[in-house]
Order: sequence, then C-alpha cells, then structure tokens
Amino acid sequence: QAPVITIDGPGGSGKGTICRLVSQKLGWHLLDSGAIYRVLALAAIHHQIDPSDEEALQPLAAHLDVQFSCDEQGNTRITLEGENVSHTIRTEEVGSVASKIASLPRVREALLRRQRAFKEAPGLVADGRDMGTVVFPQAEVKIFLTADASERARRRYLELKEKGHDVNIGDLLSEIQARDERDMNRAVAPLKPADDAYMLDSTNKSIEQVLDEVLNVCKK
Ligand code: C5P
Repeated sequence: QAPVITIDGPGGSGKGTICRLVSQKLGWHLLDSGAIYRVLALAAIHHQIDPSDEEALQPLAAHLDVQFSCDEQGNTRITLEGENVSHTIRTEEVGSVASKIASLPRVREALLRRQRAFKEAPGLVADGRDMGTVVFPQAEVKIFLTADASERARRRYLELKEKGHDVNIGDLLSEIQARDERDMNRAVAPLKPADDAYMLDSTNKSIEQVLDEVLNVCKK
C-alpha cells in the first residue's frame, strides 16, 4: 500500500506550494483536490448550472472529464473536456463557485473515488481541506497548515500583482474570509484539523522553513 501525506488548511496558507515541493523532494504523486473542485465549478459555469443545484451537479461531478498531466516545463496541466484550463480555474470567481458547490454532500461523495485513485506507489502528497479527515483518514502523516487571514490576503495580492492583475487587498481579504466561513461551517467535511494532525502556522515563516518542518514531521 502506498503511503500518504495529507496537508489540509485554508486557501492561501501555502499548501499548494508546500505540497508541490514535498512531492518533488520525495518523488511522490501529487493530488491537488482543490483543482478538481475548481474544474467542476468551471464546468458548472460553462453549462450554466446554478452552484446550489445538487441534482444537476452530482452527475456532472461523477462524469467530469478532467485530466492532470505534466507539461515540458514540469508544470501541471489541467484539462477539462480536452481544453487547457490550468489558468482559468485559478480566478477568485471560480474559487468562490468551487466553495459553494463543495458544500453539497452528493458532489463530495461523487468525487471521492476519483481522489482516492491518486494513491499510487511510491506515495502520495494530498492537498485539500478534508484529505486527513475524510478522503485519506488512514494517512501516515497529516499536517494542518494555517496562516492569518491578513497574511494570506497579502500573499495572494503579491501573487496576482506579479501576474499583472489589478487587485485590491481589501477585496481579497473579504473574499478569503467569506470562503473560510463557508468552508468551516458547511455540514459535510468542514475545514478542520484531523484529531491526529500536526498543526503548523506559516504566518511568520518562509517557504523553506515550512518545507523543513514538514519534511521533519515526515521523518518521525
Ligand atoms: O484549495 P482551493 O482554493 O483550490 O480550493 C477551492 C475550493 O474547493 C475551496 O474553497 C473549498 O471550498 C473546496 N475544496 C474542498 N475540499 C477540498 C479541496 C477544496 O471543499 N479537499
């Protein structure tokens, strides 16, 4: 059985970067579960399905034609029905729709098997909200990565600014807080640490410091 490391936490805590670095360091597979919810959100937008329409979203989730592959530069390429959506799924709008549809129990259920299929030798690093609590409760290592909301807004601001987007830090903070609120208060698989998770606050830490700490936890 392939070992699993789960890293859960709110958006902007640095999970994505840390999971990618850990998976590269160990040579393990990577599951970006948030990307699956985002691709589903994009499919819902394309098909003009309301984010609360569980009846219509359940089959869409069950038959979602999403592929993860690696491009020549080693970046993950994500396609929806053959179309490269790697960038389109990263907008705040898609993130916000993703967090709405992620509160629907039958949608989450429909995506379970797809996520578990990523568990393959030599091992898996799983990034999400419920990796340690629901999807991989038997994981060997579970980490809960957090950071203050204002720090997460600041990081997101710098990231978007660098890409040439015109953004307002106050708007970003409100969006982050609204998304946290939804993710933590939903009835199914709410964002919360597993009982046996290692708690790591990245607010005042560099990426290198967080990576070292994660790798140290994995060694134990
Ligand atoms: O991590 P990311 O921002 O890409 O996730 C988008 C949204 O998908 C989150 O706000 C959350 O509502 C949902 N999600 C989830 N469970 C996961 C991963 C993401 O509910 N395992």
